[in-house]
Amino acid sequence: MLGQMMDDALTITSIMKFAMKVFPDTEIVSVTGDNPRHRSTFGKAFTRVHQLANALSKLGCAPGDRIATLAWNDYRHFELYYGISCSGYVCHTINPRLFPEQVSYIVNHAEDQWIFVDPAFLPMLEQLQAELKTVRGFVVLTSKAAMPETSLNNVRCYEELIEAEADSFTWPELDENSASSLCYTSGTTGNPKGVLYSHRSTVLHCLGTNTKDTLALAPDETIMPVVPMFHVNAWGSVYGAAMAGTKLVFPGPKMGDGETLATLINEEGVTFALGVPTVWLALVNYLQESGSKVESLQRLVVGGAACPRSLMEAMDAYNVDMHVGWGMTEMSPLGTYNTLLPWMHDLPEDEKFAYRLKAGRLIYGVEMRIVDEEVNELAWDGKVSGRLQVRGPWICKSYYKLEDSDAHLPDGWFDTGDVATIDQYGFMQITDRTKDVIKSGGEWISSIDVENAAMGHEDVAEAAVIGVPHPKWTERPLLVVVKRPGSEPQKADLLGYLDGKIAKWWIPEDCVFVEEIPHTATGKVSKKDLRELFADYSY
Ligand code: AMP
Repeated sequence: MLGQMMDDALTITSIMKFAMKVFPDTEIVSVTGDNPRHRSTFGKAFTRVHQLANALSKLGCAPGDRIATLAWNDYRHFELYYGISCSGYVCHTINPRLFPEQVSYIVNHAEDQWIFVDPAFLPMLEQLQAELKTVRGFVVLTSKAAMPETSLNNVRCYEELIEAEADSFTWPELDENSASSLCYTSGTTGNPKGVLYSHRSTVLHCLGTNTKDTLALAPDETIMPVVPMFHVNAWGSVYGAAMAGTKLVFPGPKMGDGETLATLINEEGVTFALGVPTVWLALVNYLQESGSKVESLQRLVVGGAACPRSLMEAMDAYNVDMHVGWGMTEMSPLGTYNTLLPWMHDLPEDEKFAYRLKAGRLIYGVEMRIVDEEVNELAWDGKVSGRLQVRGPWICKSYYKLEDSDAHLPDGWFDTGDVATIDQYGFMQITDRTKDVIKSGGEWISSIDVENAAMGHEDVAEAAVIGVPHPKWTERPLLVVVKRPGSEPQKADLLGYLDGKIAKWWIPEDCVFVEEIPHTATGKVSKKDLRELFADYSY
């Protein structure tokens, strides 16, 4: 027997229509290349989204077309998210930090028709133009007055394009399973792979991640997504804010700049911000050097990489509660979120930190398990680690145009490529990526734990750990360190510092100092490049 309830489609259009009616005056504040503080509202932005939809239709876009963005976090990018997806096209957000050849690969693979580009990224496109086989033209995200010279063919100016258009549009009735956006994830081997989100997966992810114990977006919050909008839809925050009536503050091109972040937080009353550890390190460094405070900021979510204890302690000193979240491009992205259980608040400091630093507990809608090499499920005892696998309605079923090489295991689970433990209370902890694990004498060493311990040393700006060959133990960890400017830490001193903080046999035998640790386009340590750098090293 079927239920007798309405089956209205779960679409991004429904979020837009809701926010326009219920939260028209909620603000959207942005830093852009042509305006240090632009102010808009959901009402104004969605009116422009109607104009944009008319313009897109005149550009000849057809249902399902991939329309690309190469842009920072700001109000125009916000408008594109909605204008493209609600019109029935696919918003393909491209990471401008990728190598140019990766950008041309993914534009061609996605068969993008138009590219909406921030002026800062024009030189890259000018260089690539001849290779972009399907692109019909480019729209520069700026005003007529600020329109730069460019050698690109068929170029429009965003503000000119939309200003002439009507502010009414008949939105198509979309199937909730139709594609809404596309984001490529670059693995360490092979070409980047496309994750194609649907309207339904996006709405469910927003609903699932907005409980009180998770993102808890509401009209009395002001959020600043420092996670880029070209990386997994800014962790869904841009949709969630419209659904919850939350003021949005976009840092534009200044997202790595501690001073701009602090100024925006203080002047716009940001209560909650989202980003990777690197940006919070930049903020803390600025606060410590300048003596500034961030009094409105109550909480941060940190994800994308493990959070060092030293960072969480530094934020505690500013009364900012840091919550670790875990997920990936293939998961929209959120799968777990760290909020302590009520009784854990009374634990001694060290025990409390041990829980707070984990990746957190499952969000309703996602299932997870850890398994061994034979796919036997492992215990949730906080000790045994295994391959982390997930499933759920906002997790990718197969990669775009790679449907045959199904992303899933035969029994329907998705292998995340992460290695993790899960404790008896359901707190998951990432110990490594499958391809980064260090196996020493047959036992796994968590490179993340060693890195985080080393990051606690006051002379360490950044630390990374890789496995290198060892005659007796097959592999041993090697600690690679970038010194804090002005400091001269000694090897023995650093390695000695780890004593008592991690298992004795996890302490690396050696530590090398480098000027810089290589990073991927999403700002994570590139272990692959690091391993190449130390390919000749052996114990
Ligand atoms: P991406 O698809 O680029 O967002 O990267 C996803 C990967 O980032 C995950 O598979 C993890 O390896 C890593 N990651 C994300 N969140 C965390 C976290 N809280 N702790 C450790 N690693 C994380």
